[in-house]
Amino acid sequence: MSSTNPAKTLLVKNAALLVTMDGERREIKNGGLFIEGNLIKQVGPSETLPQHADVVLDMAGKVVIPGLVNTHHHMYQSLTRVVPAAQDGELFNWLTNLYPIWARLTPEMIAVSTQTAMAELILSGCTTSSDHLYIYPNGCKLDDSIHAAAEIGMRFHAARGSMSVGQSQGGLPPDSVVEKEADILKESQRLIEDYHDASHGSMRRIVVAPCSPFSVSRDLMREAAVLARQYGVSLHTHLAENVNDIAYSREKFGMTPAEYAEDLGWVGHDVWHAHCVQLDQHGIELFARTGTGVAHCPCSNMRLASGIAPVRKMRDHGVPVGLGVDGSASNDGASMIGEVRQALLLQRVGFGPDAMTAREALEIATLGGAKVLNRNDIGALAPGMVADFVAFDLGHVAYAGGHHDPLAALVFCTPTQVHTSVINGRVVVKDGQLATVDLPRVLERHNQLAHQLVSGT
Ligand SMILES: [Zn+2]
Repeated sequence: MSSTNPAKTLLVKNAALLVTMDGERREIKNGGLFIEGNLIKQVGPSETLPQHADVVLDMAGKVVIPGLVNTHHHMYQSLTRVVPAAQDGELFNWLTNLYPIWARLTPEMIAVSTQTAMAELILSGCTTSSDHLYIYPNGCKLDDSIHAAAEIGMRFHAARGSMSVGQSQGGLPPDSVVEKEADILKESQRLIEDYHDASHGSMRRIVVAPCSPFSVSRDLMREAAVLARQYGVSLHTHLAENVNDIAYSREKFGMTPAEYAEDLGWVGHDVWHAHCVQLDQHGIELFARTGTGVAHCPCSNMRLASGIAPVRKMRDHGVPVGLGVDGSASNDGASMIGEVRQALLLQRVGFGPDAMTAREALEIATLGGAKVLNRNDIGALAPGMVADFVAFDLGHVAYAGGHHDPLAALVFCTPTQVHTSVINGRVVVKDGQLATVDLPRVLERHNQLAHQLVSGT
């Protein structure tokens, strides 16, 4: 089955509620979509749409929403969930315990963990994901995740991470897992040339993404920005994650993380930073003025006790904010719809019951994520946008008693898995089952590899 055959039509009809996230934020009862190839042609009440198509999806009893956008992840970490030595530390302690394990990663581990992570994301409502892979031991390459993503059928922003400052140079990672800066830049350029697709509806984009200010040099940050802008690709890193991160920045660079980012040229609509839990007032104003994006990862921030990101304040100032599940070693779960719920709950813990509504939380996970990834073709269901949408079943016990506001039910109630997922016009989940890969087989291999990796045998 071809996902881009322009002759192929898809009709979605009878959705109990169709949430568009379009310019008017329309929520359409008995709604539907008419799709040709990978693009949405019409959106509206079912009776206003063409009645025939090559494929018809009857969404009675379902809530249909735009596919969720995950802006921060480290998919290989699905192999190292709940590692005992890393269960109870803060960021730097957690990293120091995990680096030696990650040093044993193999290309097969990257491929299989990417499919596992993507399966989990897709089943939780996500259709576009970024992945930040920054450790390349034993012949691992970003190509391993790119091929895995194509097979499962997920829209993918593959971020070429890197680490170059090892412990002997005052950095955090062991010397054995860092790369030479010239090699990092050369490899990033190769990946852009081999894989980056800037077109409308692109399924694959490359991002230049040194891991963090505490694992690469100032020169690499600067040169990465020059390279990215030469090719028109985005930039991504971790920034201002917790108080130790701020202390490191002040001590090593004599600046706050936001000042450092500005000094390096790491601001703009083509840049997004993960976490920003400790972004100060100057940083928030800087990010708003320059259109610099933030990947907010509430579960990870709670897991590592990093704090509560000032998302309410960022949004009020106009900072683009998307959501990220972050790596599975610091969240241990990768439910995108669950992350939407946590984003809402955590803002309320920090800033009061009116700090975030269900509709705003869902907007951050759709339109917000699209903006952070610098895209205008995903995040809403409207003519001309790509056909990325998911359906949740209101018949699930989790939503019982909540049908009077189905959108709010998706956010407030216990997260469930999707009934249907369509990515780029292709049905990827049907009746709750992943249609593109043999998931039980992937998981069996994943668990063998996880054992091998963590036990070192
Ligand atoms: Zn991260």
